[in-house]
This record gives sequence, C-alpha cells and structure tokens, in this order.
Amino acid sequence: MSANTRPSILQSVIPITDLRRGHGLPIPAMRETSDGTTVRDQRGRQLRDLRISVTDRCNFRCTYCMPKEVFDNDYQYLPHAEVLSFEEITRVARIAVAQGVKKIRLTGGEPLMRRGIEDLVAMLAAIPGIDLTLTTNGSALKAKAVALKAVGLNRLTVSLDSLDDKTFRAMNDVDFPVAKVLEAIDAANAAGFEQIKINMVVKRGVNDHQVVQMAKFFKPTHGLHGNIVRFIEFMDVGSTNGWKMDDVIPSQEVVNRIHAVLPCEPAHPNHLGEVAKRWKYLDGAGEFGVISSVTEAFCGSCTRARLSTDGALYTCLFAQRGYDLKTLLRSGEDDALIANAIGGIWQARQDNYSEVRTAETARERKVEMSFIGG
Ligand code: SAM
Ligand code: SF4
Ligand code: SF4
Repeated sequence: MSANTRPSILQSVIPITDLRRGHGLPIPAMRETSDGTTVRDQRGRQLRDLRISVTDRCNFRCTYCMPKEVFDNDYQYLPHAEVLSFEEITRVARIAVAQGVKKIRLTGGEPLMRRGIEDLVAMLAAIPGIDLTLTTNGSALKAKAVALKAVGLNRLTVSLDSLDDKTFRAMNDVDFPVAKVLEAIDAANAAGFEQIKINMVVKRGVNDHQVVQMAKFFKPTHGLHGNIVRFIEFMDVGSTNGWKMDDVIPSQEVVNRIHAVLPCEPAHPNHLGEVAKRWKYLDGAGEFGVISSVTEAFCGSCTRARLSTDGALYTCLFAQRGYDLKTLLRSGEDDALIANAIGGIWQARQDNYSEVRTAETARERKVEMSFIGG
C-alpha cells in the first residue's frame, strides 16, 4: 500500500516532540530501604531490568512503531549533544546494577545503527554479574554478529514479523527483504548465539496469517540452536501507531491456532517475572512464547526501567514523562547522588498501565517506543 492510499493516521497524531523535550518529573529523594539494600517500588516490585535506548533512529519504518507519515524526512531526531555518550550510559548502568539490576537490554530505535555499538557492549559486559542482551531488527546483524559475540554480548532478540517477503516488506515499510533477516539469524547462530528470541508483533489482517508458519519454521531449529519464536500482542505504545483493540490478536487466539496444527501445552516459566508465557509442543520438540501485554497484564511482576536515548529514566513503557538523569550526569554530581536519584524514582513508582488500559487511555499522549526503548 502506498503512503497515498494508506488510511491517514495523521488526524490522530500528536506532535511528539512536545512530549520528548518536556521537562523531567521532579526526582524524589530516596528513603532508607527496609533491609538496607533492596530498592522496591510502591507495590513491592524490585528494580531488576534496565532497557537502554541507544538511538532514536532506525532504518525501518514498521507501521506499528515508526510510521512513515510521522517519521518522515522532516522528522527531527535528537541532536548529537542530547544523546548520552557510551561513558554516561555505562555509568548509569553500573549504578543501576548496584541498585539491583541484573539484566540490561540494549534497544532503540535500531541499536545496531549506533556507531561503535560494539564498544558500548564491551564496556557494559565488563560490569560483573549482568545478563547483557540486545534487540535488533536484524538488518545489520549479519555483519556484526561475530564482533558482538567477541565483546561479550550474552543474548540476542531479533524482530521478525513475517516469513512472507511481501508481508514483511510492507510491515517494515522500507522494502527490506525477509531473506536478509533470516541470513542474519543463521549468522548469529553460527557466531555462537544460542536460543535467539524471535519476536513477531501480530496485527490482525496484516500478518496474523503467518502465525502458524512462523511456529512451524522455528520449531525444527529448536533442537539445533534453541531459537524461540514469541508472539507479541500489538500494543498502544506511543501516540502515532493508530492502535485499536480490533487490530489485536489475543495471545489465546494465537495459541489456539498453533495448537490446532501443532499440539502444545503450557510450560513452567524459566524465572519469576518472565514476560513471555511459554508453551511447549506435545511431541517434545521445541516451544514458543506469547507476550500478552494487552489481554493479560503482567504489571504485578514488572521490574523494568527504561533509559531513553537522551538520558531520562522511565518507569513504564506507557509513561508520559520521565526523570531527567542526564542533567545530573552532566552537572558533576557524584555516583552516590545518581544512585539516590534512581532509588528515589523507583521507590515512587506506581505504574500499572496495562491493568487499567481502556480505549481512552490508548489515546493518551505517550512517549514513542523508539525513543524510550522497546
Ligand atoms: N529496532 C529494534 C527491533 O525492532 O527489534 C529494537 C527496538 S523495537 C522498538 C523493540 C521491539 O518492540 C520489537 O520487537 C518490536 O517489534 C516491538 N514493538 C514495536 N512497536 C510495537 C507495538 N506497537 N506493539 C508491540 N510491540 C512493538
Ligand atoms: Fe525500527 Fe524496531 Fe521500531 Fe521497527 S520496531 S521501526 S525496527 S525501532
Ligand atoms: Fe510494566 Fe508499565 Fe508494561 Fe505494566 S504497563 S508491565 S508497569 S511497562
């Protein structure tokens, strides 16, 4: 479909630059923790995961994330001076790890578009005791897989919305061929990345006809490299993707469709707070996952904070505002003060957006996913 014939979403689009450059929320002071170490939010959730958006740019224009009509040639990306440096990112990461973070995910935008990303991976990999992972659209992965493995990246997630080339090209909206992403997944497996997560956002009438195909395609590779496909419900992130409930395929429907062809049953979670629900095939060969952020909220176990490309901390994917850490980082404050800020922000957290989502809230102004990190 060309941009001219596509139904216009511009009517519902809000100028997102207003949100992005809005003043940060006031940073609350940290209170003493009950055990002297563990930071918990208002619902008792710990801070365990940090997702870092290393760039707000991307070479794809996935219609559900960075629609072309908004992210066009005139779109103003963050100027270089506003983007956190590798040293600043690593400093925040180190402090957050001391506050309890165990897992760091590099994302964006497209993280492999950030020049020198391997250097950042190496710097973060030097922090002891973290699980370091990265989510990519796979377009530049073939060329970078060996280097990323060599500098210490632990795990990878590759987004792939369809095996059908026409559907894939239409969804990334830059005519990128699916074969190149599949080659990149092979290259990453060959470089030593095992159990790659393959993320498919399922949108009704767009790519849902590919669900069973995807399950079948990745099933045999389970024994070989353990790659696991995960079906994600289309979400109302940001303010530009024209989300409506009718476009969401509930995970239960995904499971039913797969079960009809490849019988499956629920599997135990690998760890507490796991976002994807696991399903294993009854023939014993392989599994898939579903991420049901719309139909089955998992806010109760959400331990994720997000660091935006310009250094603001967000405590929810659907937040409207974040806390400006960059100013603190650049004002000569010591680590103790930054730690106090992160702790205070987390302790004040009450987020539960997915539990209270309605058609009304879906229309609220939220920060774009490409900016705060998917
Ligand atoms: N560019 C990288 C990629 O696509 O893998 C990393 C950033 S992207 C924002 C991270 C993940 O968010 C991708 O797996 C993408 O499919 C998912 N995503 C983006 N918009 C979404 C939406 N509206 N609903 C559900 N998932 C979405
Ligand atoms: Fe880019 Fe990833 Fe968003 Fe697609 S989902 S537009 S690849 S950031
Ligand atoms: Fe976490 Fe916010 Fe998603 Fe709930 S809606 S799971 S609090 S990111």
